[in-house]
Amino acid sequence: MSMTTEHQRELDLGFSWRNSFSQLGEDFYTRVSPQALTAPYWVGSSRAVARELGLDESWLSSEELLQALSGNRHIAGAQPLASVYSGHQFGVWAGQLGDGRAILLGETASGLELQLKGAGLTPYSRMADGRAVLRSSIREFLCSEAMHGLGIPSTRALCVTGSDAPVYREAIETAAVVTRVAPSFVRFGHFEHFSHRGQLAQLRLLADAVIARHYPACRTSEKYGGNRYAALLEAVSERTADMVAQWQAVGFCHGVMNTDNMSILGLTIDYGPFQFLDAFDPGHVCNHSDNQGRYAFNKQPQIAYWNLYCLAQALLPLIEEQELALQALEPFKTVFPQRFESRMRSKLGLADAEVGTSKDERALIEDLLHLLAKERVDYAIFWRRLSHAVAEGSNRAARELFLDSSAFDAWWLRYTGNGADDPARPDADMMLKTNPKFVLRNHLAENAIRQAKMKDFSEIASLLAVLETPCQEHPGFEAYAQFPPDWAQSIEISCSS
Ligand code: AMP
Ligand code: MG
Repeated sequence: MSMTTEHQRELDLGFSWRNSFSQLGEDFYTRVSPQALTAPYWVGSSRAVARELGLDESWLSSEELLQALSGNRHIAGAQPLASVYSGHQFGVWAGQLGDGRAILLGETASGLELQLKGAGLTPYSRMADGRAVLRSSIREFLCSEAMHGLGIPSTRALCVTGSDAPVYREAIETAAVVTRVAPSFVRFGHFEHFSHRGQLAQLRLLADAVIARHYPACRTSEKYGGNRYAALLEAVSERTADMVAQWQAVGFCHGVMNTDNMSILGLTIDYGPFQFLDAFDPGHVCNHSDNQGRYAFNKQPQIAYWNLYCLAQALLPLIEEQELALQALEPFKTVFPQRFESRMRSKLGLADAEVGTSKDERALIEDLLHLLAKERVDYAIFWRRLSHAVAEGSNRAARELFLDSSAFDAWWLRYTGNGADDPARPDADMMLKTNPKFVLRNHLAENAIRQAKMKDFSEIASLLAVLETPCQEHPGFEAYAQFPPDWAQSIEISCSS
């Protein structure tokens, strides 16, 4: 097959494209074509995401789509581009960044954008190569779908395609492309970019476009004296608070919460050195490059607020009054604890409180987290065992996780209520639907990566199948729900990807 002739022939996926980001104009991006990847092969794919796109699943084994999503063939109607943004990285203004290796194909009529991550050089690649390695691409693919399976807002991933083309990191690795899907890939950093440069017309255009497409209620909101940009900031704060509350409840550590990795839609985005906690360690730092522990697990809520503050500063020229901008950030401080408590209540099988979480219940949650931290109890296993304890009326398996069983017993007594007259009995069914049996632990991803490097992609497919419905039992896949092996502790995940 001659690559050039194939490349010239457009592939029609049957989408009608809308491409609204592209209509913002050339200050927002550079048109760029994906760079061809030699002899690509399928690594993993999600039928669920194909369905969302209205793409027949047969495409996911087709040679044509494989070539197109690996940059070897143009897709009819797509208007590929790389967008420009800036951001604060590790607390420091980093200036211009941009899609250094992600290329937006466009937006389908269903309102979903498709982006190829690792598709080659763009004007924003800086000193890097525009590529992504197989290992990080598999992690991103699996985790996007795992988060979605947990009900946590996230960008999605249609597939990963790989190639034997070498990519140079600490060692020689191979290239891969993740096809990501989201209603928008706009980040806080897009706003910071134009604001920092004093390009206020572009800043307004971007804000108006985001409001029109994703936050239409802000246009007519009477809050903040009808200031739609303050209303936007509040809405983004609320979504971000909700997302991070869910991270904290499920034990997810993002690892690189730079403002360029914060989605304007409150989606979990840019999966790098993320980790689902094994043992519960509130101060856990999952990113090996994060020497200061800025993005430690328990710092995520305050970092989210810090990032929202950067967004507020970026939007200030539009909001005009500092007081309004600060007011619009305030709800984060109430929404985050509310949403967090609400998630924790569900994990405990307690019905959502109409009058808010009581002092006793709050203490119940805090004391439990304290116990789990003190003994470094495995987080996911604890919650699943607790759910079964309530369902089956025996707490033996949960209790076994603690050395200090009397401390657990005392907590259990408070939790289950001391007398039959206690009306608030935990709802086991709710717990089993809330506390996942399966999370994408580092060692599970690592096993799938090791096999994929030997061209066996079956582990990726079986992990995906389980993670899509992580609260279901999935008999036969018990191994995925077990304690991490000792070697899991030595896995080092850095920013290198
Ligand atoms: P990240 O920490 O992965 O979010 O990346 C920060 C910035 O560096 C983003 O603008 C990326 O597009 C860019 N970047 C990361 N890795 C590469 C690469 N291999 N080639 C080009 N740009 C990259
Ligand atoms: Mg990024």
